Amino acid sequence: MVDAQKSLLLLKEYSLCRHCLARQASTSRRQAGKKCYICRGLFDDLDGLAGKVLAAAKQYQFETFLIGATLPTQLYEREDALRARLKIRGRENIKNQLTRELGLRLTKMTKKKVDYHRPDIAVNLSIIRDGDAEATARSRPLAIEGRYVKKARGLPQKQEKCAMCLGKGCNLCDGSGLAGFESVEGMIAKHLMKATKGQAPKFSWIGSEDKESLVLGQGRPFYAKISDPKVRTPKMKFKESGIEAKIVSVLDDVPDTQARFAVKTRIVGKCERPVSADDVRQLRSLAGAEVKFENRSKIAAKRIHSAQAKKAGDSEFQLTLHADGGLPIKQFIGGEEYMEPNVSKLLGAKCECVTFDVLAVELHSAKP
Ligand SMILES: [Zn+2]
Ligand SMILES: [Zn+2]
Repeated sequence: MVDAQKSLLLLKEYSLCRHCLARQASTSRRQAGKKCYICRGLFDDLDGLAGKVLAAAKQYQFETFLIGATLPTQLYEREDALRARLKIRGRENIKNQLTRELGLRLTKMTKKKVDYHRPDIAVNLSIIRDGDAEATARSRPLAIEGRYVKKARGLPQKQEKCAMCLGKGCNLCDGSGLAGFESVEGMIAKHLMKATKGQAPKFSWIGSEDKESLVLGQGRPFYAKISDPKVRTPKMKFKESGIEAKIVSVLDDVPDTQARFAVKTRIVGKCERPVSADDVRQLRSLAGAEVKFENRSKIAAKRIHSAQAKKAGDSEFQLTLHADGGLPIKQFIGGEEYMEPNVSKLLGAKCECVTFDVLAVELHSAKP
């Protein structure tokens, strides 16, 4: 008690603003006049600082936010020195009080909420010199599930990364992180960036296809994570150069486990000799088979659920497979690498895949 009274007396030697005084002691005594010893007037302009925070936040669509601050070390040093002398311990520090006060003002101005764990946006206020402040904001990445259909041949599925930033997004690649936009990935990336006003989308595809393949039916599902989106409820649907893509839903996050899926593929294969009726029967017998092959030095097994086959020219056949996702079609026909069974071995003649088109992709489990 005696100590506390002594501290209060000593506190009178300092000129402190209302806020800086409240952090040291539970007293409402107020000193007017001289500049605050600790903050040097920083708290006198809370409304001005809140205005800067608001201007940075307003570039984003958000429901929740978190405010951070970077303050000059001198502010902490002055408060520490005062507290050491007056034996004041365990009270809120200047940064917490500042960000809390600014949070209250931003809530009042925007009706949005503070979230300490997973805010939509983080606003940082940098106090450069006494009173000179700068606010910047950044948003939490946005995850979406989409689908695309590819009705024209000749467009690769994936795009090389930008050589300058290796995918992070820079001025050279217009923030996309990609080396160009001449692919399914590039075109969807361009539209996603436009819809979200974000940057550098990262894709996870449910399976892959060839440059010459079509993707039909309901299309191929994919996930994308977009950095620094300004829009959190994007809508995207486009048709361009044979590609039709859309956002199906906005997700909490991209699932981190590999999705299980099945694919219906229509293959046109060419054989080194004429295709016989017996060959067609052999191809149909693939229904129910389990195809084993080496994948990243492990043995992978993919089930063929159904197989339809017909002759499609003198030495060509059409084979339609409904199989587990991830079966390498070209190797399955050609049989160059270890794969059991494979079509070349089955027919006892060298075969190759001319084209394969994806008729349907069924996603079985994709929840995070
Ligand atoms: Zn102060
Ligand atoms: Zn780049």
